[in-house]
Amino acid sequence: MKPIIIVHGGAGTWKNKDLKKATEKLKSAARRGLDLMTQGANSLEAVEQSVIMMENSGLFNAGRGACRQKDGTARMDASIMRGGDLACGAVGAIEGVRNPISAARKVMESTDHVLLTSHFAAKFAVQEGLAQLHEPLTEAGGTGETVGAVAMDRAGLISAGTSTGGLSRGMDPGRIGDSALVGCGTYANEYCGVSATGHGEAIIAAVLARRASEYVELGLSPQEAAEEAIQYLQKKTGGTAGLIILDRTGRSGADFNTPHMLWDSLTAEDVEP
Ligand code: ASP
Repeated sequence: MKPIIIVHGGAGTWKNKDLKKATEKLKSAARRGLDLMTQGANSLEAVEQSVIMMENSGLFNAGRGACRQKDGTARMDASIMRGGDLACGAVGAIEGVRNPISAARKVMESTDHVLLTSHFAAKFAVQEGLAQLHEPLTEAGGTGETVGAVAMDRAGLISAGTSTGGLSRGMDPGRIGDSALVGCGTYANEYCGVSATGHGEAIIAAVLARRASEYVELGLSPQEAAEEAIQYLQKKTGGTAGLIILDRTGRSGADFNTPHMLWDSLTAEDVEP
């Protein structure tokens, strides 16, 4: 298979001045993931490294740019999933960790669990040797939105991951959103991978990522599946969200009912001279 990656930088409203920088960072994150897979890395590694780039940029509401909850503390959510064997890991309301996506991967690979939360997750991340985040970037958090990536490597393995600082305002302390919940913000199996963004409470109620993947399993194209899933969410919950999908044939799809969603996809053909 030819490696392919699709990334998003969140669904919401982007100010023009932020959009250019964030779009460039999104493209470099996709390129990083693709390059890794071209060099032989698997899609899980590609997803993690692409998300790390966006978390570290401070341009998105994830990692360094994470939003703060009502008590002034940034608590972050992330999840990652490997489609071939449904292996998955997640962290919810984690504080003080530079790369929540790596903490999610560590939960997947080094524990018997799927989800660790709050200070327990942070302590676990430190024990695992992950870098700490002493101060998130700004009072209000980064300018952008949640980040996510879905990739398929040369062996045809699909992985997906999502990382966020949560909603940009009004989060009660301890709130955990869809990005920490497998099947809601992130999902991957042998058919496809999905990463969602937007109003977490609505995404959870719609079990959005899994719903979109079911549409692909039923025979819809990734683009049709993305549109159906967003329509379902809107109809049932009135919420706003977006998602990206990549299927096992290398087709991608994206849809959103917010004013904007940043996303991009990249294949080996796009970068070959
Ligand atoms: N879905 C995220 C959450 O509710 C936020 C976002 O995607 O912008 O935590």
